[in-house]
Amino acid sequence: MQFSDMPNAPPRRAIAGAPRPWLTRLDGECAFPVDGGGLTVRACCNPCGKAVYCPPHAAIMRGPPALPTAELELEIIRFLERRR
Ligand SMILES: [Zn+2]
Repeated sequence: MQFSDMPNAPPRRAIAGAPRPWLTRLDGECAFPVDGGGLTVRACCNPCGKAVYCPPHAAIMRGPPALPTAELELEIIRFLERRR
């Protein structure tokens, strides 16, 4: 499976300035995979300092904001009630 095959995959290349093979990344370069698969995976490689990902890719990796606990419990209860 290639990263581009993932459903709802974000536009990875739009952020990456000059992606390179993932294994050639240097310290301080973003590790976010932009395309390819297996040994041909290319990483974003944008400068990211001591972080693993550059800021736009870090935002993607964090995902949507988490629900407050009480709201999450209600979502779980609603989900379980629909399964009956
Ligand atoms: Zn990046």
